[in-house]
Amino acid sequence: MELGFIGLGRMGSEICAHLIRAGHEVTAYDVREEATLEAGNKGARAGRSPADVASRSEVIFTSLPHPNISREVILGEEGILAGARDGALLAETSTVSPSLIKELAPKVRAQGAELMDAAVSGGVQGARAGTLTLMVGGGEAGFEKLKPLLAHFGKNIFHCGASGMGMLFKVVNNMLSHVNLAALTEAMALGVAAGADPNLLCDVIAVSSGRSRQVEDRLRKHILPGEFTPGMTTDLATKDSDLCLELARELRVPTFIASATHHVYEMAIQKGYGAEEYASLIKLWEEWLDIEVRSPGAGRGS
Ligand code: NAD
Repeated sequence: MELGFIGLGRMGSEICAHLIRAGHEVTAYDVREEATLEAGNKGARAGRSPADVASRSEVIFTSLPHPNISREVILGEEGILAGARDGALLAETSTVSPSLIKELAPKVRAQGAELMDAAVSGGVQGARAGTLTLMVGGGEAGFEKLKPLLAHFGKNIFHCGASGMGMLFKVVNNMLSHVNLAALTEAMALGVAAGADPNLLCDVIAVSSGRSRQVEDRLRKHILPGEFTPGMTTDLATKDSDLCLELARELRVPTFIASATHHVYEMAIQKGYGAEEYASLIKLWEEWLDIEVRSPGAGRGS
């Protein structure tokens, strides 16, 4: 099938590579020329703009860092809709608000195409391994067409409901995931400040009731070895936290815990950790308490 891929960053480059390996003809584009070239080395055709990509594709995937960029890439002068074929399917894998999807879907439909939200969870590692969880919103026919393509990089594929519902599920999931990480860093700091061995504490939590996926994905892989190359940046995690709080505000839902957590992410950005792996939250407590939650050698091979 002729596919398009726009946004070849940490997630997009991995997802795009699966589609190429599956034998599809992929036209790829990123504002960073080197990313487009790298996709070319893996077998993609180089796109010149989102409109150009769309003109050569039946299904166009996007993986972009901010909702405003997603809007521009879809609606802008050289955007997808400027080149989309009749009957094209747009699959938005970036994390954006459900309300943005609901705003864009009718505009896409008016041009004879369809927008599906296809939110992903599982990080760069999951993208590389092809084991992502997919949360899809949109019509049944679009979902059925998209599903075999999503199966190239996803393991658990859920149709969450109408347009925007995939993003709703994703925003709720990430609210919990981000709260879990902030709580984990706080708890680890307390334990280590009181004399616990960080590696042993991690091993115990990993098989006890305090466990969350962040124990393996962030504590063991990033915090203990002191490896803060993203993964997921603090900037992107804070964007997701913004999306969750915006949704809560729209619906007047009290979100005490997510609101408090949001400040932790903002503090990390103020300290200059925005472009780092978001596990760098731990450094806040390390500086306040003059401790290190480190275990040299931890995380390797896990
Ligand atoms: P990233 O910053 O690594 O990648 C974004 C890419 O988009 C970059 O290569 C950038 O050059 C490109 N880009 C920016 N503006 C563009 C434009 N106008 N046209 C074309 N390309 C443009 O981000 P990422 O970590 O790959 O995340 C991408 C999306 O996936 C985000 O919405 C993020 O929230 C979501 N997500 C990320 C993870 C993760 O673990 N990193 C997990 C799940 C979901």
